[in-house]
Amino acid sequence: MCYQVVERYSVCRCLYYKHAIDPCAVYGQSGHGVQEKTVLVGYACATHSSQRPEMTYGAGVLPDSGYESDAYPLH
Ligand SMILES: [Zn+2]
Ligand SMILES: [Zn+2]
Repeated sequence: MCYQVVERYSVCRCLYYKHAIDPCAVYGQSGHGVQEKTVLVGYACATHSSQRPEMTYGAGVLPDSGYESDAYPLH
């Protein structure tokens, strides 16, 4: 089985870096897949590191914050 190392941010799980596939002897044959190996890196990406995860709830960033979501939960 071939392997492809995919590095992800451990905080937000966004893609950090996708390595090239490490092919095995039967790479490319039908029905043959590539095994993803996820490697977590110990921080958040630029997008999510600018936010404080604890503050996302009730911080006014929800698109339905102006809605009457108290009486009628949309989810
Ligand atoms: Zn393979
Ligand atoms: Zn992220």
